[in-house]
Amino acid sequence: MKAPCYLCGEDSVLDGLCGRCYAKEHPLAGVPRMVSIETCKRCGAIRVPGGWKRIPTSLSGEEEVLEYQLWDLLSREVKTTSKDVELSLEELNRLDRVLHMRLHIEGSSHPSLPRHHEDYDIEIRQSYSTCDTCGMASGGYHEAILQVRADGRGLTEGEESEIAAIVTDMTVSQYESDSKAFVTSTSTDQYGMDFYVGSEHLARSLAAELESQYLAERKENFKLVGQDKGGKEKYRVTILVRLPRFTTGDFVSVAGNPCQVIAMSNGGLTCFDLRARSRFTMNQKSVKWRTLEYLTEESDKRAFMIVTHAFGKPVQLMDSKTYETIEVDEASLDFEFSTGDTVYGIELDDQLYILPSAPSD
Ligand SMILES: [Zn+2]
Ligand SMILES: [Zn+2]
Repeated sequence: MKAPCYLCGEDSVLDGLCGRCYAKEHPLAGVPRMVSIETCKRCGAIRVPGGWKRIPTSLSGEEEVLEYQLWDLLSREVKTTSKDVELSLEELNRLDRVLHMRLHIEGSSHPSLPRHHEDYDIEIRQSYSTCDTCGMASGGYHEAILQVRADGRGLTEGEESEIAAIVTDMTVSQYESDSKAFVTSTSTDQYGMDFYVGSEHLARSLAAELESQYLAERKENFKLVGQDKGGKEKYRVTILVRLPRFTTGDFVSVAGNPCQVIAMSNGGLTCFDLRARSRFTMNQKSVKWRTLEYLTEESDKRAFMIVTHAFGKPVQLMDSKTYETIEVDEASLDFEFSTGDTVYGIELDDQLYILPSAPSD
């Protein structure tokens, strides 16, 4: 015989209480009736004690943002008593700046008791302002200017769009951890691209990425821009990233040998030695790097059609523009080819070099 529950008289199961009374005395969570949330009207950041919490950049649309904001708020305001609870949120009513929500919680008040369900109505008062980041960004705040140039030429269209994509991707990826990860203004002209970057840290990581990707040179200049409140001098850094004269596909000489640039990435330059017919890789620390000289751009290459080819004999080529025919040594075409194919060549110092068949691989 079990003793009766001291509250309702049913059979008691735990601490002198029946299951239902035990659950009532030990609710699954402490839930406030009313909570306030302040968010940034521009970016959706949430005001938290001591600052702003950025929302993930993966969220899209107002509803997803609101849902994230509400769960973030509830995770701070709702104190659950058991770990094994399931929460869900139901919207009851939405006014201009007030939301009436019902929080459903399922779980058990004690491991020996079955799961049960609890409902809590919460009033959520919303207010909007501008977070520090958006305030700074709209005010043109920038700690650094990143200038991207190329040595003795303008940037190519391909470089411009690649660089813009790198800047966007890195800004987005640092945005959640760096409240000043924004670019307040961008300009592109015949000399290159300028980015006004909110955080010096972001500007430095962008510069490092471009330096590595394009084997670029980096220079920094500091300019006095004023004093802070304590009288300390404040400087703004301008980081100049200068891409080399050549780009992928162009012709260079390395240690006196004519080469085509095949690829540039992660601090390494891959070249094809047109005389030795072999590829090699070097970086800015290589001894060979100091002998690197720009010869001419890729667009100077000529297209030829293979006219005739007989084994053991010179190959006859016809220039696709001038129709001039020339003969080259069979060995200078070190790849599979047949009559009618197009091959490319470059004339350097009165010498014609046939280019590797697929310069991109
Ligand atoms: Zn009871
Ligand atoms: Zn904001």
